[in-house]
This record gives sequence, C-alpha cells and structure tokens, in this order.
Amino acid sequence: MNDEKSVEELPGVGPATAEKLREAGFDDLMSIAVSSPSALIEAAEIGEATANKIIAAAKKLADVGGFLTGDVIMEQRNAAFKVTTGSKALDTLLGGGLETCAITEFYGEFGSGKTQITHQLCVNITRGEDEGGLSGHTVFIDTENTFRPERIIQMANGLDLDPNEVLKTIHVARAFNSHHQMLLIEKAKEITKEFPIKLLIMDSLTSHFRAEYIGRGSLAERQQKLNKHLHSIMQFADINKAVVAVTNQVSSKPDAFFGDPTRAIGGHVLAHSSTFRVYLRKSKGNRRIARLIDSPNLPEGEAVFSIMEEGIRE
Ligand code: ADP
Ligand code: MG
Repeated sequence: MNDEKSVEELPGVGPATAEKLREAGFDDLMSIAVSSPSALIEAAEIGEATANKIIAAAKKLADVGGFLTGDVIMEQRNAAFKVTTGSKALDTLLGGGLETCAITEFYGEFGSGKTQITHQLCVNITRGEDEGGLSGHTVFIDTENTFRPERIIQMANGLDLDPNEVLKTIHVARAFNSHHQMLLIEKAKEITKEFPIKLLIMDSLTSHFRAEYIGRGSLAERQQKLNKHLHSIMQFADINKAVVAVTNQVSSKPDAFFGDPTRAIGGHVLAHSSTFRVYLRKSKGNRRIARLIDSPNLPEGEAVFSIMEEGIRE
C-alpha cells in the first residue's frame, strides 16, 4: 500500500531513530500509525511530543484516518476472506468460517478440541480460496508444547494434500513465558517478509499469563499485559490481512477466582478484543459442541462437529 514510503520520511525520524523503530518491529508507516505513543517512546527512546508527532504524520501518510460510509465498510467486509474449519456446521456458526483481520478465540476445558482446531486450520489455510484456504503459511506459537506434526500429517492426508509440503508452511515457536510469547509476535512480523503468513495461532493465549499472575493483586497487571499483547496480535491480523485463532483453557467447574466457566479468563479485555468467541464443550465420544458468544453481527447458536483421525469433520 505505502511500500514506497519509508519510516525515514516521518518528521523527527533520523537514521538512528529509524533503526531503533525497525528493530522494535515498526518497519512501515502503518505499524507506526496504529501504535500507541508509549510503545513508540519505549521502542525509539524518544520524548512524548516527538512520538505524538511521528504517529500523527504516519497516520496521514499511511492514510488510516478519516471516516467511511457504511457502504464502503460493507464492501471491505465483503472482501474479508473466510477460512474453513473443516466442519460446515462450525463454519456456518461463524458466518462462513474464520474471518481475516479478526481474532477468533476458542475456549473450553481440557480436551474440548481447541488444539485440534488450530492444527486443522494450519492445514486448511494452505489450500486455495475455492477450497476454503488462502494459499498461505502459518505462524504457530505454542505455549503448552502440544503442536504435533504427526497430527498435521494425518490431517493433510485426510485432504489428499502432500503432508511434507504442508509441514513446510507451518512456522512453529515455543513460548516459554508470557514475556517471550509477546516478543514472538514481533518475530512473527519479520517472518511475514519472507513467507505469505495468512494464519497466526496462539495456543494457548492465556496459560502463561494465568500461571504467572496469580491472585487478585496481580489481576490488573495481567489484564493490562494481555491487553497490550492482544493489541499487537490485532495489529498483526490487520497488517497481514491474516486469520488469527487463539485458545484459552477454562475449567468446566465454576472456580472461585475466575467464576463462570463460560466466561473466559481474559474477562473484559478479551471480550472486547476478539471479534469471535467460541465456547467448546465435549459431547459423546469424538463429538464436540461449539457455541458462539458475543458476536457483533451473528446470532448466538450452537454447532456440533467431530474430531476424527483425518481431522475436524461434521
Ligand atoms: P484441548 O481443547 O485441550 O486443546 P485437543 O484439541 O487437544 O484439546 O483435543 C484432544 C482430543 O482430540 C482428544 O481427546 C481426542 O478425542 C481427539 N484426538 C486427538 N488426536 C486424535 C486422533 N489422531 N484421531 C482422533 N481424535 C484425536
Ligand atoms: Mg490444547
């Protein structure tokens, strides 16, 4: 879009500042335009006034400001792609599949199928648009060490795809703590220059945060960090026109600290950042039930799907 305009064109950005910005992942005007002043201050060691000036200029150059009429927004929404989950019922529940430029959160108890769905998406995203994919690669951030290439192979075979070719499109990183997890988003931005990343998986979004920030006293700090993290994830989705799926494990039993199990851990922070929230629960055998929660434009409803050896199916 604005590829020909570089960071150096912004007022107050000399070579040294540009370098620092790039190192922090602010390597195009759009990423600066949508940044907060505090993020820029930290990244480039500049003052608040300079940060504000830089952001304002980036907004102008990157053309992110301004109001749009509803019909134009409708046009943009029609241009958003949907990626299939492998289950028609689940796709229908989501209005056709997982949407680009949005975060879809799958939450539910252990074994409810969150990780299986993320694996299926990695396979499906490699397919062409007419088959529910985007011919894209995946960045998979694994916090629980549950990424399994064996599972990808089974799912690729289930769709008559070359498993080796599919495995080559999945860029996996383990995140060892929440700080590392946040840094990996910055790394992911670098990978997008080399590969057509169209899917970002964060499995799980919340486990490290939950383990590290324990007790009421740290709740505010946890939510603040999670909020910042989600912000950079959303930015990643927007800039790359990518699909983002995050998972979030909740206990099936009401728990004194987190309360109602159907309300996920991120609480209000997550509710506002993720565009789609899907609550998963176990049913008989390999069946699972998905319920759409709090969608801005889709009715609440439920879908039943199955986890088979070949992947997510009806
Ligand atoms: P979580 O929500 O905790 O991430 P998972 O997505 O890992 O749960 O789902 C685990 C479930 O997936 C298992 O209980 C099993 O029913 C199913 N599953 C895992 N691997 C296979 C497989 N190879 N064939 C069929 N079902 C599988
Ligand atoms: Mg899992």
